Amino acid sequence: MEEINARSIFSPATGFIRRGGFDWTCNPYLGCSFGCKYCYAMFLPQNPRPREDWGRWFQAKVNALELARKQAPKVAGKAVYISSVTDPYLPAERSLCLTRGILEELVPHQPRLLIQTRGPLVVRDLDVLSQFRSVRVNISIPTDSEVVRQAFEPKAPPLERRWQALAEARAAGVTVGICVTPMLPLEDVEAFVQRIVAFRPDVLVTQHFHDSGGGFGADTTDEARRLMEERRWTEDDYRRCVEQLRQRLEVFEAEAGFFPPPSPAELVRCDIR
Ligand code: SF4
Repeated sequence: MEEINARSIFSPATGFIRRGGFDWTCNPYLGCSFGCKYCYAMFLPQNPRPREDWGRWFQAKVNALELARKQAPKVAGKAVYISSVTDPYLPAERSLCLTRGILEELVPHQPRLLIQTRGPLVVRDLDVLSQFRSVRVNISIPTDSEVVRQAFEPKAPPLERRWQALAEARAAGVTVGICVTPMLPLEDVEAFVQRIVAFRPDVLVTQHFHDSGGGFGADTTDEARRLMEERRWTEDDYRRCVEQLRQRLEVFEAEAGFFPPPSPAELVRCDIR
């Protein structure tokens, strides 16, 4: 891990995050120790290390709290996405508490907050998260198979711990989303669908494995392509699973699913109806 001093902790949202309705992104870290093989963030030009090293480095923005204290007023009431190019709940967050510190600085300013993570450590911060009037915790659960998870996300937390985190967030009164993004090969499609349906996430997002074939911008690695081919998981398999989900739940696909939680005014309107 490297420590860096960042110039800013909130950046104007761009790309699919901007199109989804977010104003700002917040990345307490640069790089990601979870090292998912399909991660688009490894292709970003601002990464200081070669793509082949993805998952073996990250930088912690050690002045994140100081910056958040100064800059939080500018995101008051705005839609903030945490995080777009890293995971806000890397193992290092347990001791560094950068994400937690930023959240604490944000509470008085009440942005509309989306937390996007694979890290069950998010449950540590439910006491802070539940102080936001508009918040959603999205947890990525891309498969039902630990074998597949270990192949594609070797250093990310086990799937059961993510399910547990979802349940704890919901029990704390926090709105939750499940992101099957990208959907990786499934062992038992029917059981996976059943489990998601039984949980009834507030938002469900699915996406087929993203592969722009080595094109410019967001893409995936040759290794991820090889793993998909080995398991013979195709877009038709993905479609069949999504159709089963759609019969029972609302399904948002790809970037259509990444939108902010409703504003407090919208929540009041929902209550009145
Ligand atoms: S957790 Fe997110 S940012 Fe980290 S490697 Fe996986 S997909 Fe990329």
